[in-house]
Amino acid sequence: MKAAASTARVDEIVEQLRANGGRMNTARRALVAALVDAGGHVTAEDLATAVRRTHPNMHMATVYRNLEALEDLGVLTHLHLGHTASVYHFADDCHQHLVCQTCGHVVEVPDREFDRLTKRLGGTYGFHLTLHHFALMGICQACADESGQ
Ligand SMILES: [Zn+2]
Ligand SMILES: [Zn+2]
Ligand SMILES: [Zn+2]
Repeated sequence: MKAAASTARVDEIVEQLRANGGRMNTARRALVAALVDAGGHVTAEDLATAVRRTHPNMHMATVYRNLEALEDLGVLTHLHLGHTASVYHFADDCHQHLVCQTCGHVVEVPDREFDRLTKRLGGTYGFHLTLHHFALMGICQACADESGQ
């Protein structure tokens, strides 16, 4: 079941890529499949490791070049969950991330939770907030409980 669902998702992404004027190649398809399998939040290194299981000779430069191309084509996007390497997401599956700075736990929050804040910042400060690119840092409930807060 999982494999069939993954294949359908890969095909959906391939459709998007073509609609945006991009061409598919072996590296791009392998990267898209690896990201579907991983479910998001993976680094270029993680994707390269996954892709090399089936394409052992693919260079890191090829991985980076094609990740960049997929980003330019609006299929992928990268974001920062903290001080570590940036991670990848499909562009049609975005949300804001809350990251625990103690244990690294990630909570995904839908954009609508930020609607009021976004409107206020726009109205009061003339500032148009970009969600997604950086995570919001804090302490998760489990870590707060542990430290007796
Ligand atoms: Zn960035
Ligand atoms: Zn935590
Ligand atoms: Zn996410």
